[in-house]
Amino acid sequence: MLERERSRGRERIELSTDSTKRPEAASRPPEIEQAAETAGALTLPGFEAFVPQPLPTFGPPPPELLAPRHDLPDDLGTLARMVSECRKCALCETRTNTVFADGSPRARLVFIGEAPGRDEDLKGLPFVGRAGQLLDKMIAAIDLKREEVYICNVLKCRPPENRVPAPDEVEQCLPYLEQQLAILKPALLCALGLSAVQALLKTKASMTSLRGRTFEYRGIPLIPTYHPAALLRNPGLKREAWEDLQRVRDTLKARTAS
Ligand code: SF4
Repeated sequence: MLERERSRGRERIELSTDSTKRPEAASRPPEIEQAAETAGALTLPGFEAFVPQPLPTFGPPPPELLAPRHDLPDDLGTLARMVSECRKCALCETRTNTVFADGSPRARLVFIGEAPGRDEDLKGLPFVGRAGQLLDKMIAAIDLKREEVYICNVLKCRPPENRVPAPDEVEQCLPYLEQQLAILKPALLCALGLSAVQALLKTKASMTSLRGRTFEYRGIPLIPTYHPAALLRNPGLKREAWEDLQRVRDTLKARTAS
């Protein structure tokens, strides 16, 4: 199906239907509604009540779509060292550390956030503050461990005061992420927050219109959901986040089974 759509000139394809229409999503509620006032809130009884649902299956991505760039190193270690010395944009002036990635280089699932925050900048690792603790719980809710997935950001340096990345900063830094994904060749991407989704899908669409759906990034299914920091600020979003996580788990199972 993907090949057919590409031959028609469609670069980005919505792959499956609205998860909120699934029976289990409709009957999920109270536990999720209670979803938390704290970072621990996503460890919920309902999170264990997973029922596999039939999903579209996907073949391996066409190799040409994920081919590493020739102007960047084609191994993660060398690429990380290059990033640590990068001065392509002004964020190099204010960073403490570059933040390349955490997790397994053999991961099938990659979480992609917006940019490092204060804790991440200090430690040189992505998602290590309160939002990181919540991401760990989100990962555990789909029966995985942090060390079994790969976690990174669109930007490798912290924007001052955690402001939204500027378009030119995204443009300068995105090739590093593209190279990471081309090397990893994961089965599934989960984009955390609007900035990450917009950067990857090259869209200005709102989170409301993007989430609850599965897109394609260079032959890999991409599922948007809220950034954990947004869930900490607004726990009422956790019901939708749980629906997205079910979609991630279902799609990953379908991808790794094929
Ligand atoms: S944000 Fe990216 S492009 Fe800018 S200096 Fe850091 S690594 Fe380089």
